[in-house]
Amino acid sequence: MKSFKVYSWSNFKQQVQIKCILCRGLTTLAQPLCQLCLATCPAPLCFCSCCGLPIQDSDTGICGQCLKQPPLFDRCLSPFLYQFPVNRILQLVKYQSRLELIKPMVVSLAEWLMDYYSDDHWPEIMLPVPLHRNRLRERGYDQTLLLTRALKKLLCTGGLGIDLEIDQQLIKRTIHSVPQQSLDAIARQKNIRNAFTLNRKPPWHHVALVDDVVTTGATVSEITKLLKNSGVQRVDIWSIARTPET
Ligand SMILES: [Zn+2]
Ligand SMILES: [Zn+2]
Repeated sequence: MKSFKVYSWSNFKQQVQIKCILCRGLTTLAQPLCQLCLATCPAPLCFCSCCGLPIQDSDTGICGQCLKQPPLFDRCLSPFLYQFPVNRILQLVKYQSRLELIKPMVVSLAEWLMDYYSDDHWPEIMLPVPLHRNRLRERGYDQTLLLTRALKKLLCTGGLGIDLEIDQQLIKRTIHSVPQQSLDAIARQKNIRNAFTLNRKPPWHHVALVDDVVTTGATVSEITKLLKNSGVQRVDIWSIARTPET
């Protein structure tokens, strides 16, 4: 009897060669951004341990703004700055359904988190920042939920003993606000105010709020306020990229 070799989808993806989305050099389906291009993605060398923004060499590791008035959330952890090519990649994911491009970004986030939490307590749950249902209908997918699921897969199936669930029911976006990227910092804050509600009292002390990009922090601060008013003690923000202040 003839035997057939069975290839799993992940083996298949690792072997199929495609062109890198940036340099057009050869890479694999499992890694649509080649290693060389991934290495050119801008990352903060030195960043504030609170808001995640790049800082100059500082003794405390906390930026002047956070020393004066710390944000509501406790940490913002992002492996990349929202600059080329990371901004381009995330826009392709969000607006052109290039969902396969999220993978190399999520791998970097997972590595960043594993490094950070080797020295700290992991949160008890991951809470993706939700889309309004009208926007979900327009777009057909929720890129933040997809990235959170990809992250869970990387963190929890690697035999690392990390056990994190996703709760996508707790936070509801009740107001269909205009997209934040068209607004300045003050308008963003106003636009997002009261845009979310919690479905129930959260049962956790320490949570991770996941978003694709953190710009002024208006969205994550608004949700953090709700969570902390409902008894959550620590809110860590996880995102692929952080927009540096201009
Ligand atoms: Zn490349
Ligand atoms: Zn700071």
